[in-house]
Amino acid sequence: MSSPDSERSTPVLDAFSRPMRTLRISVTDRCNLRCQYCMPEEEYVWLEREEILSFEEIGELVQIFTGLGVEKVRLTGGEPLLRRDLDRLVRLLAQNRRIRDLALTTNGVLLARHARALREAGLERVTVSLDTLRPERYRALTRSDAHAQTLEGIAAARAAGFEGLKINAVIMRGFNDDELADLIAFGRETEAEVRFIEYMDVGGATRWSMDQVVPRAEMIERLERQFGPVRAIEDETSANGSANAKAPADRFALPDGAAFGIISSTTEPFCRTCDRARLTPDGRWLLCLYASDGADLKRLLRGGTPRAEIAQAVADVWRGRRDRGAEERRVLGARGVLFQIEDLRKDPHREMHTRGG
Ligand code: SAM
Ligand code: SF4
Ligand code: SF4
Repeated sequence: MSSPDSERSTPVLDAFSRPMRTLRISVTDRCNLRCQYCMPEEEYVWLEREEILSFEEIGELVQIFTGLGVEKVRLTGGEPLLRRDLDRLVRLLAQNRRIRDLALTTNGVLLARHARALREAGLERVTVSLDTLRPERYRALTRSDAHAQTLEGIAAARAAGFEGLKINAVIMRGFNDDELADLIAFGRETEAEVRFIEYMDVGGATRWSMDQVVPRAEMIERLERQFGPVRAIEDETSANGSANAKAPADRFALPDGAAFGIISSTTEPFCRTCDRARLTPDGRWLLCLYASDGADLKRLLRGGTPRAEIAQAVADVWRGRRDRGAEERRVLGARGVLFQIEDLRKDPHREMHTRGG
């Protein structure tokens, strides 16, 4: 982990000189919520259980990726805490000395139960998704009554010793865009910095439309009207000395010092500096959140391909990477959903809950 003697490898660069530094691993496509912006349908096509990578297989692939420059790893899903014994995976990854930042994104529902074990296993950072402070809105958004459990999860994470907690809130016009100030205040109280995420037209967001997106500029304008000038906080991505890439969230502060972030993937995307690779629960490797397909690394792994050969193949593909999905979407005239429902059913790898967000 971040020990002084941790090893670093020179990152492989893509066609736009973007290093491969971050790996987001979706450990399961299953979820205990049904967020409107991610899983709004009644039925889904799930990955076959025997196709899901074991922890040991994930560990092996991570070894390959960290050998090519990855040093930040985030576990996500679906809901990662639905994966049984996730702390065992964390413990296994924590032994990889090239990982300098091991993090988790969760909806928080099961976090109170697992926070301590995850911390003890070596997890360093946690981000909890919480879009509203109002239980009735939460129910309408997620089709679940677990609002209080999510709040308990945030408190338990803090009690377990996680510092630098983050809260992700997807802002949708007419739904929770009146909660910006309340969410910032809640973040302050709970010592968890809130990051507002623009509603994205990713796979799975089959109800997306541009008129529901609240652009970053509008969020700032609204907060300024209420509180006065909002100050930009200088980017701290080099805090752990790890990346020359910009963090996805731009950070700001209200006049009273309360800090928050905005992830403006829809109106002001940051593909230019994107250093992220993504792994689905069954080992598809995606070069971009908007990619229509990815390489099947599980097939190579289970087929006995020598690890050095897999590493070579991964490096070659990354060198040719030209993906900048969100920037390409932004310049489209009429912008609709990314994939139609039929396409998602034919290939569930296109779902946000499979590729991990
Ligand atoms: N289930 C976990 C959770 O919700 O935190 C992890 C997986 S979820 C796919 C990861 C992140 O993607 C969450 O913060 C979620 O809010 C975000 N997300 C999902 N669909 C989105 C969309 N259409 N636009 C913006 N963010 C989205
Ligand atoms: Fe919501 Fe995360 Fe589940 Fe998607 S994967 S439905 S964002 S909790
Ligand atoms: Fe990276 Fe693709 Fe997202 Fe752009 S759209 S920031 S290239 S993952």
